[in-house]
Amino acid sequence: MNSTARFPRLQQLIGGYRKDMIALQRELVRRIAVGPDNNGPGEAEKAAFLAVELEKLGLTVTDYPAPDDRVAGGHRPNLIALLPGHKPEKIWVLSHLDVVPVGELNLWQTDPFTLRVEGDLLYGRGVEDDHHGIVASFFAVRALVEAGITPARTIALALVADEETGSQKGLAHLLANHKELFSPQDLIIVPDAGNAEGTLIEIAEKSMLWLRLEIKGKQCHASKPDLGINTLRVSAHFIVALEGLLQEFNAENPFFDPPCSTFEATKIEANVQNINTIPGLGVFYLDCRVLPEYALRMVVARVKEIASEIERRFGVAITVKTVQEVQSPPATPPDSPVVKALTKAVQVVYQRRAEPRGIGGGTVAAFFRRLGLPAAVWMTDEFTAHQPNEYVNLNHLIGDCQVFAHVFLNAE
Ligand SMILES: [Zn+2]
Repeated sequence: MNSTARFPRLQQLIGGYRKDMIALQRELVRRIAVGPDNNGPGEAEKAAFLAVELEKLGLTVTDYPAPDDRVAGGHRPNLIALLPGHKPEKIWVLSHLDVVPVGELNLWQTDPFTLRVEGDLLYGRGVEDDHHGIVASFFAVRALVEAGITPARTIALALVADEETGSQKGLAHLLANHKELFSPQDLIIVPDAGNAEGTLIEIAEKSMLWLRLEIKGKQCHASKPDLGINTLRVSAHFIVALEGLLQEFNAENPFFDPPCSTFEATKIEANVQNINTIPGLGVFYLDCRVLPEYALRMVVARVKEIASEIERRFGVAITVKTVQEVQSPPATPPDSPVVKALTKAVQVVYQRRAEPRGIGGGTVAAFFRRLGLPAAVWMTDEFTAHQPNEYVNLNHLIGDCQVFAHVFLNAE
């Protein structure tokens, strides 16, 4: 059977997995995998369950545990399950085992850790983030196995810990200690974000810079403003002056939405408690999302220059402090094999044209890209992650599973 004839067979098999997908979601939801940073027990129970299920399919499962004495057993699991292909180059699907806490419990209509099924919608903590990736990739492999197909490339499912709290015990651990598992020739898919149409393939992230800006003026009575220096008024001038950053760092990159860098004043710290005192200390924060073509130190240097102008103009003292600085790695090339394979598969399964795009920042794909490993973030995503009554649409699980199966079958 050639691959054009084999894909309909896989699609048909996957279409028959609806009940089994619900059953797997049910088992995953009830194994609470909140990480220790969020006062949870970690991912061990969920990982042990999945290891058995993957072995039942005939996959070889290896754990690459990250030591962590905050959890029972003393380590966080990072499973890699392999289905050998005709060649050693791999197609990775990397999903994460951990889930975020439930948040405000009374906002949930039912118990977050007991799966609720309503029509095609499955509710529970983790059903989308990131059981969506786990379930869709698991059943794509099962379809290959049941159809008796050996793919060209080796299929590698990675199920990692600690994605929600920094990945140091998850993907970062794997890449730091077992980098030999990955090759630039591999296709790497991270099903952990996307859009509701399944047409967003995320290949790049903006750099992220958070700055704390502290202005020291002089507190005084509000009836005698000349005796002080009003830091709230200075903050206002400063914030307006910072809008100049938009003109200076004005490159446009159509892969991103919005296509430009952004510089937004966000949080402001409380100052005086009463209305009739002029504040002498002002603190606000700037959230900068900067296109990868700019070095963040250039932005910091320019903010400091603007701060000096404000100091001279108003007689204040300003401290610029970096709270967080993440220089984005080079983008995954839009014509890389993983992007092409996903685009083709989305076209076949959903009859839609997917586009490689950039986002504002914050996925684990950055860990891969930093090492020159081309990763693409993709899934059909209704953005219910981290929300109360998190849900996933069973039709998206089926469709995304078929997309993975198409990639597994056709990537050379
Ligand atoms: Zn996630």
